[in-house]
Amino acid sequence: MSASKPFYITSPIFYPSAALHVGHAYTMTVADAVARSQRLLGNEVHFLSGADENAGKVIKAAKASEKSVPEFLDMITEKFRHLFKALDISYDQFIRTTDKDTHWPGAILMWERLREAGDIYRAKYAGLYCPQCEAFYTEKELKDGKCPLHLIPLEQIEEENYFFRLSKYTEPLKAKIESGELQIIPETRKNEILALLERGLEDVSFSRPAHAVPHGIPVPGDKKQVMYVWCDALTSYLTAVGFGRDDALAAKWWPADAHIIGKDILRFHAAIWPAMLLSAGLPLPKRVVTHGFILSGGHKMGKSMGNALDPVELIDEFGADALRYYLLRKVPSFEDGVLNKELLQDAYNGDLANGLGNLVSRILKLVETYEVETEFETPKTLWTKNGNPVRLALEEFDTRVAIDHIWGKISTLDRQIQESKPWELLKSLDNHEKQKGFDTMVRLYKDLWWIAVMLEPFMPETSKKIVQAIGKNKLDKALFPRKDQ
Ligand SMILES: [Zn+2]
Repeated sequence: MSASKPFYITSPIFYPSAALHVGHAYTMTVADAVARSQRLLGNEVHFLSGADENAGKVIKAAKASEKSVPEFLDMITEKFRHLFKALDISYDQFIRTTDKDTHWPGAILMWERLREAGDIYRAKYAGLYCPQCEAFYTEKELKDGKCPLHLIPLEQIEEENYFFRLSKYTEPLKAKIESGELQIIPETRKNEILALLERGLEDVSFSRPAHAVPHGIPVPGDKKQVMYVWCDALTSYLTAVGFGRDDALAAKWWPADAHIIGKDILRFHAAIWPAMLLSAGLPLPKRVVTHGFILSGGHKMGKSMGNALDPVELIDEFGADALRYYLLRKVPSFEDGVLNKELLQDAYNGDLANGLGNLVSRILKLVETYEVETEFETPKTLWTKNGNPVRLALEEFDTRVAIDHIWGKISTLDRQIQESKPWELLKSLDNHEKQKGFDTMVRLYKDLWWIAVMLEPFMPETSKKIVQAIGKNKLDKALFPRKDQ
């Protein structure tokens, strides 16, 4: 067995401008499943999430809710933490980019490194700006002349800013991505980035006038400018683990093993961020894993689209594990997926109440009645076993395929119980038949244990309940009571 390795995984550093929706819950659940599976391997894991707070639209949102910016940010980040708790997310750290102790020293150091490399310069900037995205778009990226994500008209903005020489890194980035030194998962997203690099990268604005975002991080040596939100937010992946304040800690955790992101922020994570790291002379993250959107009515779900589902409400009604199950299995791992309450209820009744729940109570009933006893392998042994298809799929970040293997096992066991009827064999007067019945029971029991262990990264509470029931040879109440319309 290899020694414990540090594994550093991040969710995006989310915008705190609105309450969270199911898309955020999805990213967090994917990252959580990976983090938990790494812990099952025996690795030391650091799982980071956080809030990207130095943004102009935070000021508007705070005004709209009649709060000061700090009060507003405290309120929203409290909602983030509440959701993560409700969803059973095992994150280790929540970084806030307004944190002057944890984040600012490293953000300032990053800026200085980029400037020392000759990659920061001053220029006039004129462009089309989406206040929702807080990003500039080029004409060809627009959809009907509007923001491709928010479908709102863009603002023509002209200002004098600092720029980052992103164009200089087109070729080096191409080489790193083609060689696999920086993995972009899945392949379709890798090709998308390579196509972007083929067209060539343009330099990007890296600062805003300070009056636009007074609470932002001042550009070193120029109080009239603050760092542009992406430059500051991306750097939080480094500052969280010590960059700029604790070199030994940073050396332990960096480079990150995986950034888990949605497809809308791919170009920031697969172009701007690695280019910044190259400029600063720092190692690149090992992987950028990109998932799709949760759709509702054909659009990305979000507050500004008016189609957001509140994940906390869904958890209150169906439980955290039901929502986790749906997101990880019913949403294709790297493509867009659809979620609504009816679909969630169908999955709950079909796969959880009838599928998993029934099987667990059936096997435990047999075990209790016939006093079956056996010994189980440790979770780590089962998880690391050669060819374990659940682990292998999760190593590819394919949660859907990973869970498919567990439900494949559930169907197989259902069929085996039906066909072999071990309780009849046990009644047989023939000792050979009787032994066969007993062996079948033991195998079912071991398989139930396997299911409990394999479920842990995806449905931790359910996994725990099955483990406890196995410990008592008894299930006190149904895992998933059916929900009627
Ligand atoms: Zn937009």
